[in-house]
Amino acid sequence: MAQKRDYYEVLGVSKEATDQEIKKAYRVLAKKYHPDANPGDKEAEEKFKEATEAYAVLSDKEKREKYDRYGAAAFDPSAGGTSGFEGFNFGDLNDIFGDLFGFGGGGFSGFGDIFGGGTRYGDPSGATRGEDMQATMELTFKEAVFGCTKKLTLSMWDTCPDCHGTGAAPGSSPETCPQCKGQGRVRTQQRTFMGMMESVHVCPSCGGTGKIIKDKCPKCSGQGRVRKQKTIEVNVPAGVDVGQRMRLSGAGEAGRNGGPNGDLYVLFNVKSSPDFARQGYDLYSSLTLSFTQAALGCEVEVPTIDGKNVKYTIAPGTQNGTRFRLRGKGVPQLRSASQRGDLYVTVTVEVPKHMNEKQKEALRAYAEAMGETTDSKGKGLFGRFK
Ligand SMILES: [Zn+2]
Ligand SMILES: [Zn+2]
Repeated sequence: MAQKRDYYEVLGVSKEATDQEIKKAYRVLAKKYHPDANPGDKEAEEKFKEATEAYAVLSDKEKREKYDRYGAAAFDPSAGGTSGFEGFNFGDLNDIFGDLFGFGGGGFSGFGDIFGGGTRYGDPSGATRGEDMQATMELTFKEAVFGCTKKLTLSMWDTCPDCHGTGAAPGSSPETCPQCKGQGRVRTQQRTFMGMMESVHVCPSCGGTGKIIKDKCPKCSGQGRVRKQKTIEVNVPAGVDVGQRMRLSGAGEAGRNGGPNGDLYVLFNVKSSPDFARQGYDLYSSLTLSFTQAALGCEVEVPTIDGKNVKYTIAPGTQNGTRFRLRGKGVPQLRSASQRGDLYVTVTVEVPKHMNEKQKEALRAYAEAMGETTDSKGKGLFGRFK
């Protein structure tokens, strides 16, 4: 057997350390090396065991005195004599692990895994929360901008309507499990390298529920929940965008043994619009002006996402690619719908493609007035650069 490190050294305290100092030192080490915090790390596990062993002795007045007098040999089963850990109840550590790791209600996980055997358990009643679900919802561009109410049909586990989740046939009810007396877990004693150790396991008779169902509900086969097509009405707020996710608390799958429902996450997919592009809460559109409208200026009607046109004055000499902003004509903001983004409109100046003779004549006259030379055969521009 390898030489054991001194227990005081393991905890990093002096031989004169008070009970409080020992407890404090152990808490720090246990937190640092607890297997829950170091999954798969063998070295941390060894350190955790070593610290726990040291704490088990030094936190007990009688054992500490014995250790001070005789050293580790007093607790080593291979050295003969009785094991110092005989009868040591690991439940004593509950309070430490309870507030270290937040396992309320007297129970800690990890020991079963580290010291052999054991199954982790959650709520002692066996109640488990239902699973969270995710669903994708298709929205039109406008539905995402202004919000909507839409139905979503999902196949999910729902509380059994016949037994209301108890799993017992109508007219009967679940009985308290005789093996664990409804606790859902049983204590067993095991001999380990540290002496007798008490550990807690999920009750094998009831599987941790604390209840035995003799007459199972035929509808759900005693599961307390059934697979069901469920239609959920979703209120989509104004301003949502593609890829955003909304949580509907408690709209997920039914819990087991009276556990709460899971949540439903709705992921939005938004169709694009032929007229508007979106970036955050701002919208982008384009407006086509004729060459003369842009040159002379004009009044235009600009389409908006609201469906109403807005009057806008185009200044004379507006260039192709000019962008103007219509404040507050964008997307309502998710958290305050009265605040809206803006609409940015980019001007495209169109050069006429097909003109009749009268129109061409007018443009030639214009060109002449501008001092440009053209001729009817369209060679003029070439000549201009000669
Ligand atoms: Zn049922
Ligand atoms: Zn049981």
